[in-house]
Amino acid sequence: MSKSLSSPSPKLVFLIADGMGDLPVAVLGGRTPMEAAETPAMDKLATLGRVGLCRTVPHGMAPGSDVANMSLLGFDPASHHTGRGPIEAAALGLALEADDVVFRLNTVTVSDFAATGLMRDYSAGHIDTAVSTELVRQLGASCLPAGYELHAGVQYRHLLVAKGAAGREEATVFVRPPHDITDQPMAPDIAALQSVPALWQFVTCAARLLAGDDNASKANAVWPWGQGRALSLPSFTESFGLRGAVVSAVDLVKGLGRAAGMAVLDVPGATGLLDTNYEGKVAAALEFLKDGDFVFVHVEAPDECGHGGDAAAKTEAVARFDARIVAPMLGALGESASVLIACDHPTPIAVRTHTTDPVPFLFWKAGIAANGAAAFSEREAAKTGLLIEPGHTLLAQTAAWARG
Ligand SMILES: [Zn+2]
Repeated sequence: MSKSLSSPSPKLVFLIADGMGDLPVAVLGGRTPMEAAETPAMDKLATLGRVGLCRTVPHGMAPGSDVANMSLLGFDPASHHTGRGPIEAAALGLALEADDVVFRLNTVTVSDFAATGLMRDYSAGHIDTAVSTELVRQLGASCLPAGYELHAGVQYRHLLVAKGAAGREEATVFVRPPHDITDQPMAPDIAALQSVPALWQFVTCAARLLAGDDNASKANAVWPWGQGRALSLPSFTESFGLRGAVVSAVDLVKGLGRAAGMAVLDVPGATGLLDTNYEGKVAAALEFLKDGDFVFVHVEAPDECGHGGDAAAKTEAVARFDARIVAPMLGALGESASVLIACDHPTPIAVRTHTTDPVPFLFWKAGIAANGAAAFSEREAAKTGLLIEPGHTLLAQTAAWARG
């Protein structure tokens, strides 16, 4: 890392609205949620700054938030991504051996845990963390195969570790992300789970236990997916010359930050939903920036609304991101920091899942030459003709713009 003694370290703020990008929606009069939402802060910055598209999901990779956020943090997923589970394990600070395999484990709602069943809800009705933590404890006591570990996370997001399984079928079995198959048949995934006896024993035991009368939650099954071996990332500070932090409700973003040696700021009341503690996130970010150089503030709600297919809620989520994250950050920092705003991937209302399309981004620093956007939206970003590809170069590019 090399810094000029004559120029102070430029501060850079990166604000991420997960899944914000979309397609025109009929009930919004053919506008996207970004176009329909009141977003005066982002629209003004767009007219003053540099707006374009960024390919956050490399060709051939699935558009998971893990892949896309790794790109936004400046690391090439094609070289560094081992799976969703390992990133979240890093967030929890789990000690893993090199030959362990870590699955993400959702508590889900299914019509019936069988090949004929349908995936109803990847989140089990956004199950309460305390409720799901108790269910995970019971599953651990009653259903866990030898050589496996269970770790409860936030809401429906848990981890299942198969110790020493790197050379076994656990490492290669493919179960689809449950948020990609809402209301779809589970037959291929059930067949995959049946091919690994220990996994099948675990998930069928879990379905029996969750069917019990004393479970009042919507969780009636568990769903292991996104597995891989332990994650290791280069140091963020050494890579970019910036002392950085992440602020997020979700474990995968915390895990990426922790794996890159960044500060991970915990904010009480950060829920990952529309009702998240926006003010707490802003306060934590501003406090860190007193000494730090870079903060990555991640808001999950637009993605959740996209998965829910709720255009009005997604529009509200985008408006709150603008009013309660972007505007106060700008108000507090003035011209003392550069600002980068993006989403990790689109989660269009029409498809209710992630897509691989390039995402809109916006960069502003005091005095930068604008590149012609009239507002911050997918269409305006496409119109400028600026495309950052591969997406993991965006951060280094904007850090260079920030240094001037
Ligand atoms: Zn995402």
